[in-house]
Formats: sequence, structure tokens, C-alpha cells
Amino acid sequence: MGEIWTIIDHTRGEPSKVSLQMLAAGRALAGGMGHELAAVFVGTGFDSAKEALAAHGAPKAYVAEHEDFEAYHVQPTVDAIAALAKERSPEILLFASVPSGKDLASAVAAKVEAGVLADVVDIEPDGDRLACTMSVFGGALTTRCQVQGSPQIVCVKPNAFVAEEAPTELSEERIEPEISDDARAVRIAERVEEEAGGRPAVEEAGIIVSGGRGLAEPENFRLVEELADVLGAAVGASRAAVDAGWYPHQNQVGQTGKTVSPQLYMAVGISGAIQHRAGMQTSKTIVAINKDPEAPIFGLCDFGVVGDLFTVVPALTEELKKRRGA
Ligand SMILES: Cc1cc2nc3c(=O)[nH]c(=O)nc-3n(C[C@H](O)[C@H](O)[C@H](O)COP(=O)(O)OP(=O)(O)OC[C@H]3O[C@@H](n4cnc5c(N)ncnc54)[C@H](O)[C@@H]3O)c2cc1C
Repeated sequence: MGEIWTIIDHTRGEPSKVSLQMLAAGRALAGGMGHELAAVFVGTGFDSAKEALAAHGAPKAYVAEHEDFEAYHVQPTVDAIAALAKERSPEILLFASVPSGKDLASAVAAKVEAGVLADVVDIEPDGDRLACTMSVFGGALTTRCQVQGSPQIVCVKPNAFVAEEAPTELSEERIEPEISDDARAVRIAERVEEEAGGRPAVEEAGIIVSGGRGLAEPENFRLVEELADVLGAAVGASRAAVDAGWYPHQNQVGQTGKTVSPQLYMAVGISGAIQHRAGMQTSKTIVAINKDPEAPIFGLCDFGVVGDLFTVVPALTEELKKRRGA
């Protein structure tokens, strides 16, 4: 019996949504493969993380706390995880497939001489290997890959799995990190927190409602925002809408924007060009509203409405409001 580690992505002890989703994935894999699950927490603020990790089924946590993990770029964190992995030989390491998580995973993989897969949207056990599903080459291909050798390092995309409450007793093992001078080469001079606004971020949201050129004018994004707010969703945008200056680039979905895998993706007035699909086609359920029955998005969606968005979207928002008693 080996261990499966979920490397907790967090902001000063506040685990991100994908970390809790990875715990659900880790628990399922551990059960199916006869392994044990452990969370690995590197940074500061473990006291704030503890409750959420226990509530989401982490029976054990390796904890390395030190101010230098926050003060310097990834190297001290890489060294701490790699040293622990060399000592304990876990079978599998799960990282968050977000920019910082992928940065970390690739550097740890190089140090422990292991293979790494990024942007994974599904994982199934296959004997003692993981069969991982990924969308590659700008969404042109979906592949199933396995990491050879040990440990297997996999970066899990946000929303690929659903976080589940599974309360348990959490035991904690403290690790004393050794932070070398070399690892302190790059100090972080300043951190500027992006204004979150009232809606979830596109890359973390379980539901996304995206608008495209079909909205005709920037003011009409209001229709998309109203629908998103009833659903508690993030607002996304096609590049055509972003290039026209209708919505910020940070909300763009696609090859040159964010790659997302929410449970529900709604495309409003978006044609479904290959570069847009590259960013959203691994979404679990895709709904399209478009007045052109020949629009490529209809070849991809699970549920399509051929109609004028200016009629369909307000009607849908009203109906959802009624059902939710708003
Ligand atoms: C290198 C490169 C990278 C790119 N990266 C991206 C990227 O990251 N993301 C991205 O999105 N695109 C990207 N693109 C651009 C992409 O090729 C498309 O041009 C873009 O996605 C089109 O956006 P759209 O669907 O909003 O607009 P359009 O293609 O113009 O589609 C608008 C749709 O709205 C429908 N419509 C119009 N009026 C209504 C109405 N009243 N009711 C209902 N439906 C209506 C139309 O039928 C049409 O299907 C990239 C292109 C290149 C070359």
C-alpha cells in the first residue's frame, strides 16, 4: 500500500476550490487502488486550512510551514515537496492544474525524475497506473495518457471533479523544511490581489455563462450577467467580444484565453470557432443559444436552443428566478 498526495493549493491557508476537488479525486483513487490519501500543505496558515481538509476527507496532512515559502518564488516549495517525496516515495502526486500548480509540478517532477501530465480532466485507475484524459493541441485532440515510472505526477484541472464533504479525523505530521540560499534566489517584492468582484472567477467557477459577438453591443452583456447571477455563475466571453472591448481579457475563454472545464457552460451568441472550443470543450454539459442552426457550436453542445438570444435569455433568466423564488 502506497500513498496518494494532494498538494494543497492555497492562499495563506485558505484552500482553493480545486484543492478540495482534488481531495475527492484522491479519495476515490485511494479507495480503488488500495492506497492511502494524504494532503501536503506547504506555506503559512495551516490552522486556517485544517478544518476544510478534514471536512473533505483528508485523513493525514504533511505540514511544512515557513515564512520563506511565501516570501520567495517557488523554489523553496519545490525543494520541500521533492525532499519529502524522495524520503517517503508516494505513488501519486496530484497538483492543481493552475499556472502556479503546473509550475510547481514540473519543477518537482524534474527533481524527483518523474513524468508529469498537465490539464487532466479525468482520471481512472488502470492497474497500478492512472489513465488520464486531457485535451491537447488547442483542443483538436483528446488523449488518454499514463505516466510511466514513479511517482506519477498529475495536474488536475479545476472542476474536473466535484468536491465532496467527507468529514474525518485529520492527523498532522510536521516537516522541518531546509531552505537553502540557492532556493532564496528570487524574492517576491510585491503581491497585488486582483479585485474579485461579486462573481466567481472564470477558471474556478462550476458554471460559466459566456457571451459573444451575437450580443451586438457591450451593454447587452447585462443579459449574460443577469443569467449568470441567477445561476451563481462566472461570466465568460469570446475573443471577438473581448477584442471589441466589450468585456475584459481576464474573462476570455479559448486558446488565447482561459481553458475551463465547468460542470455547465452556456454559450450565448457564440459561433463555436475552434479557438473558442479549445478553451471549453471539456466542460461537462454545454448549452448553446444561437439563432443560426448551422453554427458550429451546435455540433458540440449537449443542449441547443436555436433562437434569438434577446428573446431566449431574458425568458430563461425570468423562469430561473421564478423557480428559485427570487
Ligand atoms: C490565433 C487565434 C487565437 C484565438 N483565440 C481565441 C480565443 O481564445 N477565444 C475565442 O473565443 N476566440 C479566439 N479566436 C477567434 C475565433 O477564431 C473566433 O473569431 C471567435 O471565437 C468568434 O467569436 P464569436 O463566436 O463571439 O463571434 P462570431 O463568430 O461572429 O459568432 C457570433 C454568433 O452569434 C450568433 N448570433 C448573432 N446574433 C444573434 C442573436 N440575436 N441571437 C442568437 N445568436 C446570435 C451568430 O449566429 C454567430 O454564430 C482566436 C483566433 C485566432 C486566429
